[in-house]
Amino acid sequence: MSGVVPAAGTISLARGVPSPDLLPLAELEHCAAAAIRRDGRVALNYGGPGGYGPLREWLAERHGVRPAQVLATPGSMLGLNMLIAELVEPGTPVGVDATTYDRALRSLRAAGARLVPPSEPARVRYVQPTFHNPSGETLGFDARVALAEAAIRDGTVLIEDEPYGLLRFEGEPLPTVSELLRERGAGELAVYSSSFSKSVAPGLRVGYLVVPETLVARLEARILATYVSPPVLAQAQLHAFLDRGLLEPHLARVTAGLRERRDALVEALAEHVPGATWTTPAGGYFLWAELPVDAAALLERARAEGVAFEPGAGFAAFGGAERAARLAFSWESPGALREGVRRLGRLV
Ligand code: PMP
Repeated sequence: MSGVVPAAGTISLARGVPSPDLLPLAELEHCAAAAIRRDGRVALNYGGPGGYGPLREWLAERHGVRPAQVLATPGSMLGLNMLIAELVEPGTPVGVDATTYDRALRSLRAAGARLVPPSEPARVRYVQPTFHNPSGETLGFDARVALAEAAIRDGTVLIEDEPYGLLRFEGEPLPTVSELLRERGAGELAVYSSSFSKSVAPGLRVGYLVVPETLVARLEARILATYVSPPVLAQAQLHAFLDRGLLEPHLARVTAGLRERRDALVEALAEHVPGATWTTPAGGYFLWAELPVDAAALLERARAEGVAFEPGAGFAAFGGAERAARLAFSWESPGALREGVRRLGRLV
């Protein structure tokens, strides 16, 4: 699975992880010291369950909500799990895309959710409108409005997971579905989740939720009972990074690096894998390829040639996707991506 260290020498199109050269090492070194110097007595102590106050304020301003509605969590996966525990009981119908984030599927299944396709009514729906994992696709404005209006019609709580949102290579940012819900007076249905894992550094473990006021006390109680307090120091370090205006120049460098990798991957697919089709994402870490062969069988042979990728079936909520693959372009260099695809093309 993504996050698992590949065998030495393997070219990994599996890892949804930033290439080490895209991490802001020097900046975060300064920000760690700055966080302790500025606010060490707070940053090195227990914090409230919702996280470091100045970070919550920064995020609240960005999202146009009250700071109390922002819960800064130790990574967004743990935040999503807190939410799922709060919203999903055994048998709860939860809408998911036909292919979607495998870890979210696992957490929903573990909570006993009854997964249903988007066409069926559901109490909760998990969506990724921007730079979707695994497809790389982004919903346009009209599709976002349609999602928000369907949620309002059915009274469905939308969990909008957007950890890749800041990694846009081209095109204009779109309003989040949560914003569209709030604009329509339906903020009680809007739950938003994001992370600095993809845009700054996953080792910080800083994610966050933006939730309706009605969920705040329940989630805070659950957090207190589960992990007491998030790591405040990492949140204060990240806040120093944001407060010093380091995010925008960093994003410019990261998106340029990711865009170059996406281009290398797409060009190599066109050159080496006849019969395949793929998405060309405008941001994020992944593209989705439809192959002319079974992906699991291909992976077995690819491993022997020193190439790894994620077969599509692991992301399929209702089966299928046997001939699809998620290809990550975040981890390897453009040259390694080209070489990996050349080897895959030979096997296909
Ligand atoms: N949601 C999606 C769609 C993801 O791809 C990931 C990371 N793979 C996460 C949530 C969790 O990220 P983190 O816990 O590092 O914030």
